Amino acid sequence: MAFWTLRGLLRGVVTTRYPAAGPRDQWATALPTPPRFVEGHVGPDVASRVVAVCPSRALWLDGDALVLDLGACTACGACRRAAPHAVRESGVSELAALRRADLVKRIPLRASAR
Ligand code: SF4
Repeated sequence: MAFWTLRGLLRGVVTTRYPAAGPRDQWATALPTPPRFVEGHVGPDVASRVVAVCPSRALWLDGDALVLDLGACTACGACRRAAPHAVRESGVSELAALRRADLVKRIPLRASAR
């Protein structure tokens, strides 16, 4: 039996607290993260381009907004490569939400943006 399993059984601890105290997981900052759309740079052209390249169907158009479903996004970066002036990496990897709807974000389109 592994030491940590025995220790947990003896102390009644089944998991560690979250977020864990002390140094962060080094991979948390090394892995790709979902996109962040730059305010004022997302117009119909950019929106159409990023929707077309998204392999996960995590992006779609809804009226005057681009919709991003963080629950479907795999952080592949295709949208960022398609419109680098309008899309950045968010740097946010902790996306847990209590409601599914909280993972769906609306990005208003600017008519004048390219
Ligand atoms: S990072 Fe990839 S999966 Fe996520 S929204 Fe952009 S294209 Fe879609």
